Amino acid sequence: MGSGGYERGRVDLDGGCHAWLQPDGGWGWSNAGLVVGDGASLLIDTLFDLKLTREMLDGFGPLTGANPIGTLVNTHANGDHCYGNELVTGADIVATEACAEEMPGTPPELLAAMVEAGENGELGETGAFFARIFGPFEFEGITLTPPTSTFTGRHEVDVAGTTVELLEVGPAHTAGDCIAHVPGASTVFTGDICFIEGTPIMWAGPIGNWIDACDLIIEDLHPDVVVPGHGPVTDVAGVRRMRDYLVFVDAQARARHADGMPVEEAIRDIALGEFAGWIDRERLAVNVDTVYRELDPDRGRTDVVTLFGMMAALAP
Ligand SMILES: [Zn+2]
Repeated sequence: MGSGGYERGRVDLDGGCHAWLQPDGGWGWSNAGLVVGDGASLLIDTLFDLKLTREMLDGFGPLTGANPIGTLVNTHANGDHCYGNELVTGADIVATEACAEEMPGTPPELLAAMVEAGENGELGETGAFFARIFGPFEFEGITLTPPTSTFTGRHEVDVAGTTVELLEVGPAHTAGDCIAHVPGASTVFTGDICFIEGTPIMWAGPIGNWIDACDLIIEDLHPDVVVPGHGPVTDVAGVRRMRDYLVFVDAQARARHADGMPVEEAIRDIALGEFAGWIDRERLAVNVDTVYRELDPDRGRTDVVTLFGMMAALAP
């Protein structure tokens, strides 16, 4: 895998697995997955707004007509993976307990307000950044629809004869990340544990958990096919690249922290080298801030508007 085009829409993989891809995989342009059994399906994530989610559900329609979606998995609480939940009526919505706790924290109304403020010239550079990255999506009229079942650790779903294994790997990207493994198809849907050709963003950490999650995929699951949360379909080589970035940021941030360099300066000081060509490289700001928080627990959490301000300052 890893070759072939990266086009918007449905990609049919082996063993009843399917992906829905949204190039270019940048801010809000997430992927989803579908596992089709013999008479039922499991959907992995919805999209950032209702229009995009409806389009995806229509695209999967020829598959889900005879195999209706009985289970919807949210890999984590970010809106680009759950804001379309309300359209998957009648399904059991499964997520980790930590994901369910985190989900109400960022309601669609908040994103709508941020974009509006930015479009009205408020919040300065940060507002303009919001308007640019989230302006293409429609947050008005979304009813946040939370999980109906939660789990911790590991949870297995029998999708009409096809086994899907949900593995909690967070906190890493967010507080409650999980990945979906389909052993019979040697396929893993990683949610945002994997960004391909794009920079990952570490809202939660610790970074070691995220590196461990990559190792779990590479060494224990070693799938033939990896569907990332953003970017084209890949294999373990893509997960290795993701791991390389995390190891790099961890080392760079730790060294500057040890030298007593303030976080704002560390963010400006780190040269991304081989990762400079990935899109959304301004996310380095959040990643370094999160490593600093881990090294200095008294620092507390940086609020989200401040983090977006740090990224806006760094964005090309
Ligand atoms: Zn995402």
